[in-house]
Amino acid sequence: MYDDNNIFAKILRKEIPCKPIYEDDKVFFFNDIKPQAKIHILAIPKMPVTDYNDFISKADNEMIKYFFDKINEVAKGQGLINSGFRIVTNNGKDANQEVPHFHFHILGGENLKGIK
Ligand code: 5GP
Repeated sequence: MYDDNNIFAKILRKEIPCKPIYEDDKVFFFNDIKPQAKIHILAIPKMPVTDYNDFISKADNEMIKYFFDKINEVAKGQGLINSGFRIVTNNGKDANQEVPHFHFHILGGENLKGIK
């Protein structure tokens, strides 16, 4: 079940500050507080979904396409299309998912060898 008090829910409600990259009524992108690469952005849908499984079960096709398109737009805006980037999501316990609001990590800005 979705926990309204998770960190990203608080960030969405502006109760906790962050460094925003892009926001509209459907999605929010902001810098990771502990970047694992020169560019490390978190991409979240504005939906109460805990993980990838929850998101893909509940989001309609329009939302799924919208989210992936925005990820690409943000990557493009960061100059990552030619240099390359990684998108990754941790789903659940064995993946060590820390924050139970579904998110993608967008990593880039340097060679990602050795970076998970
Ligand atoms: P997960 O392990 O759930 O896939 O990733 C959670 C990510 O959220 C981690 O990379 C962590 O650094 C980031 N994070 C945790 N707390 C905060 C916070 O308060 N603000 C921001 N911007 N990122 C956070």
